[in-house]
Order: sequence, then structure tokens, then C-alpha cells
Amino acid sequence: MQSFSITVFDGDGIGPEIMAPTLGLLRKLAGTAATYDLNFDSHPMGAGHYAQTGQALPRASLDAARASDAILLSAMGLPDIRYPDGTEITPQIDIRIALDLYAGVRPVRIVPGHPTPLHAPGPVDFVLIRESTEGLFHTKGKGTVTKDHATETLQITRDTSEKLFRFAFALAAQRKASGRGEGRVTCVDKANVFRAFAFFREIFDAEAARHPDLIADHAYVDAMALWMVTRPQTFDVMVTENMFGDILSDLGAGLMGGLGLAPSADIGDDNAVFQPCHGTAPDIAGRGIANPLAMILSAAMMLDWLALRGQNAELATDGQRLREAVEAVLTEGRVLTRDLGGNASTEEAAAAVAAKL
Ligand code: ATP
Ligand code: MG
Repeated sequence: MQSFSITVFDGDGIGPEIMAPTLGLLRKLAGTAATYDLNFDSHPMGAGHYAQTGQALPRASLDAARASDAILLSAMGLPDIRYPDGTEITPQIDIRIALDLYAGVRPVRIVPGHPTPLHAPGPVDFVLIRESTEGLFHTKGKGTVTKDHATETLQITRDTSEKLFRFAFALAAQRKASGRGEGRVTCVDKANVFRAFAFFREIFDAEAARHPDLIADHAYVDAMALWMVTRPQTFDVMVTENMFGDILSDLGAGLMGGLGLAPSADIGDDNAVFQPCHGTAPDIAGRGIANPLAMILSAAMMLDWLALRGQNAELATDGQRLREAVEAVLTEGRVLTRDLGGNASTEEAAAAVAAKL
């Protein structure tokens, strides 16, 4: 029996509402598993905790997260609670930097039943990898602003880019082996305008040369925004800088039919955070109507990742089962939350997933 420790951050707004049923599903899976066990440990983090204590990401929470096998996080930040300088409370970004989680993984899958705005796009299944520690977020909150002038710095480092591209090609190889992808990695940049992106692309090409069995190509970010809409079914793995990835991942969430369906993972060499792409949705918090599916799909990604780490086949199967249960609920279209056009509550949507398991 393999035992995994999971740090849980409930967060703010709808965070606790979507976390509770997700933990219920994970407990249900682990409860019947023969080869693994999951131990959950909740810790404080977020804007609410900042308001009470003056700390958004307490040292003890960070230490617990670092020592655990995986981190499950809902959403952080509230519009009315801010740092004294007026910036938003974003410990979910700070933890990526603190734990050096350089690869933001954003899968985009469209199955029948997904309320996609596209007409008959064909099966869509690609993964966007967003560098998550540098790029245009390098000076986040520390840019220079005078009365007439403002500057932020775009930083690309060789070390982080190499790790990022190694991860992207490894993922493409894994998807090819499992029949989910053709083994293609697309580097998304703006190498025609910025020298920093030409540098990024050079490092990508060097990694590509180590994988003659995989296809490597490039796209400018503006063209990619167009192509994600016109031919999303042609992509497999794409990899890009932090800000571009921030924007394209919301586009990807839109293609899938909304933020309520978009999961994500932020992965480093030693730690990984799994959280939905959406924020704390303060406009609907406290009403029990938030869509839990993005959080549940993030939990499925966590099982995938633990399966890889622990070489545990049952975990891999359970990750897949959880994802398929969510997709079955979507395809059936009977129990959907309001953001998807239904009137089910958070609890009812999660119960529908549990029934499919
Ligand atoms: P952040 O800055 O943290 O990304 P945001 O202000 O961009 O947050 P969200 O909190 O993600 O935005 O909310 C955007 C919109 O999507 C809101 O109208 C919110 O109600 C809706 N939304 C987000 N997540 C969900 C969810 N899980 N279920 C239903 N609606 C959601
Ligand atoms: Mg947002």
C-alpha cells in the first residue's frame, strides 16, 4: 500500500464549496483502492486568512505543502481585500515561485456535451504548457512606475526554459505512447519582435533536436490565438511563456465551454499544485451553485501525476475513471450547474459524478 500526503488549500470565495465535494470523491476512490491511500491535511492560505492574520501564505502552510506529495488548491483572492499598495492577494502565484513550479499544464479537451462555442470542431485534446515562474510576470508587483513612465521586465532564463521544454517533450512522448497525441510540440512565442523570445525559441530547438521521434514546430502567439479557434483539433502539446500562457489558457477554457470546466496543474521537480483555472467567483460565492467540475478534473490530474511518481497503475486507472465520470455527466447533460445552462447545485453536480464512478 502506497500512502500519499496531500496538502489541501480551501481558499476564498467558492473555494471551500468546490473543495469539499472533490475531497469526497477522492476519499471514495481511495477508500476502495487496494494499492494506495490518500491522507489530506488542510492548511490556511488566501485573502481571508490575510484579513485575519496579515499573512496570505503562512510559513507553516508553505512548509507543509513543500513536504507533502501533492497540493490541492481551489482558488484565492477577493476583490475587497488587498495589500496596502492596492495589489491583489495572489498567494496561488507566490506558491508557484516559492516551490519553483515552472510548468503550468492546461489541458483542453472537448467531449460531446461540452458547451463549446465552436461548431463541430472535431475531437479536441491538446495540452497548453505555460511557463509559470518568470517571463512577463518576472517583475510582478515590482515594476517601476513614475508619473510619466512605467516598466516591467520580461525575463527568460536558459535553466528554466530547458526544464520547461524537457517537460513538454516528455509529455508529448507520453501522449504519443498512450495514443492520445501524435507526438507534436509547438513552441508559441513572438520571436519575430523580441530578442528574448528568439532566445526562448533557440533553447526549444536545441531540446527538439534531442527528440527526432517527435515533431517540433513554432507559432507566433497572435497566430496561435486565431488557430486555437479555427483548428484546435490539430494541436497536441504547446509550450509558451508565462503571460502568453495566461491569456491562451483562458482562451482554451473558453473553447471548452467555460472556466467551470478548465483544470490545471503547476509542476516542478519536487512539488505540484492542482487547481482549477478559474478564480474565487465572488459574485456567486456562498450560494452553493458553483460548478465543481474544474476542481474535480484538477483532482484527476493529481491522480495521474501521483500515478507517474509512484508507478502505480491503480492510481492511473482511477484518474482516468474520475475524468470519464465527469465527461459522462457532461455528455448526458442532465445534471449541470448554472454556468453550463442547468440548474443543479454544486452538491448535485458532484453527486452525479459520484454516481458515474
Ligand atoms: P481571477 O483574477 O482569480 O482569475 P477573475 O475575477 O478573473 O478571477 P473568476 O473568479 O474566475 O474571475 O470568475 C469569472 C466569472 O466566471 C465569474 O462570473 C464567476 O462567477 C464565473 N465562474 C468562475 N468559476 C466558476 C465556477 N466554478 N462555477 C461557476 N461560475 C464560475
Ligand atoms: Mg482571471
